[in-house]
Amino acid sequence: MFSYSESDLYCEGVPLADLAGHTGTPAFVYSAQGILDSYRAYHEAFADLPHNVCYAVKANSSLAVLGLLARAGAGFDIVSGGELYRVLQAGGDPSKVVFSGVGKTPDEVEYALASGIHSFNCESEAELMLIDAMAARRGVTAGFGIRVNPDVDAVTHPYISTGLSEHKFGIAMSEAPGVYERARKLTHLTAEGVSCHIGSQILDPSPILEAVDKVLALAGQLRAAGHPIRHLDLGGGLGIAYHAGQKAPEIREFIASLHERLRASGLCVMVEPGRSIVGPAGILLTRVLYRKKNGAKEFVVVDAAMNDLIRPSLYRAHHEIIAVRKNALPAITADVVGPVCETGDFLARDREMANVMPGDYLAVCAAGAYGFVQSSNYNSRPRAPEVLVEGSGYRVIRKRETYEDLVRGETL
Ligand SMILES: *Cc1c(COP(=O)(O)O)cnc(C)c1O
Repeated sequence: MFSYSESDLYCEGVPLADLAGHTGTPAFVYSAQGILDSYRAYHEAFADLPHNVCYAVKANSSLAVLGLLARAGAGFDIVSGGELYRVLQAGGDPSKVVFSGVGKTPDEVEYALASGIHSFNCESEAELMLIDAMAARRGVTAGFGIRVNPDVDAVTHPYISTGLSEHKFGIAMSEAPGVYERARKLTHLTAEGVSCHIGSQILDPSPILEAVDKVLALAGQLRAAGHPIRHLDLGGGLGIAYHAGQKAPEIREFIASLHERLRASGLCVMVEPGRSIVGPAGILLTRVLYRKKNGAKEFVVVDAAMNDLIRPSLYRAHHEIIAVRKNALPAITADVVGPVCETGDFLARDREMANVMPGDYLAVCAAGAYGFVQSSNYNSRPRAPEVLVEGSGYRVIRKRETYEDLVRGETL
């Protein structure tokens, strides 16, 4: 995906310094091969188990990225009407779409029913009643699964851990059978599945396995009670390596570890990976504007900022930052900061890094997931373009915003 040839960093066959010269910076760059390899790792590891890999659109929702995955046969996990619109625009198959989220609006439910999505992952009884009523009005039957809260600790950043009973997500395991039972009376719903999603950036998959066991037991209990459960949706959450040398779970090994548990169930298995498909396949390219020193502290001021990549500021996330062209100078220790007027605007702190000079390019690694999608126009900064590399070619899949774009839709 990304590697050095001599001293130059490449994305597949494209030297990133050349690309940056053409598209300008900051810019997000994605490797098509990297995205497809990860998707196929999931798909192929399931092998002969009936399955559906539903890419979690919220991790990176650019049309070209969705289009790549749609052509490879992926399904999609959406959390809003806007994401459904994107999936359909990208040529995604609505019959492989699952709709997750704790706060679906009536308009979104209507749109999903009209589009013929596969099923809804429901998080409350009020939501079940709404979907039933709207399905009745259309004369259709909607498939649903209850997102249960398995009360396991995903051991990740508290903002992206979701599987404990103190979190807003899901319905408690113990209450789920009662909810399925009462849902029998809702004649325009079919209990298609059981789902869970315990959090994101999970580096030790044992809590996921613990959740799988709980959800499998529940599915068995529901089937014994006569519910037509056909699938298990295990959510997403597999972590990636953000630190150099960090070990992240191998997709193939992780899925293989589920086989034994799942084969006996006879259920179709769905997963909703986001970060592990697109995260490692993207970088944020940025250019050094200035070097400055405040007392003993060294700063590298770059043209990308927290509005482009908020993860360091929001979660204190670590992203490796590497030189697009290596030099032979001794390393420095510096904060990498952007132009936004906030002390929290940093991409790295006290980082040992290449001794770069103004004009040099840097690559902020593993920025393919929760990067562009969480970017904003804060400080009236136009959002960065996105570029997709395929082999030795690349294309701009989203143009850099202009000043006109910044005020579109506004009136004086
Ligand atoms: C965010 C989310 C995902 C994707 O999580 P990753 O950590 O990116 O794999 C999957 N399912 C649901 C319901 C989510 O909210």
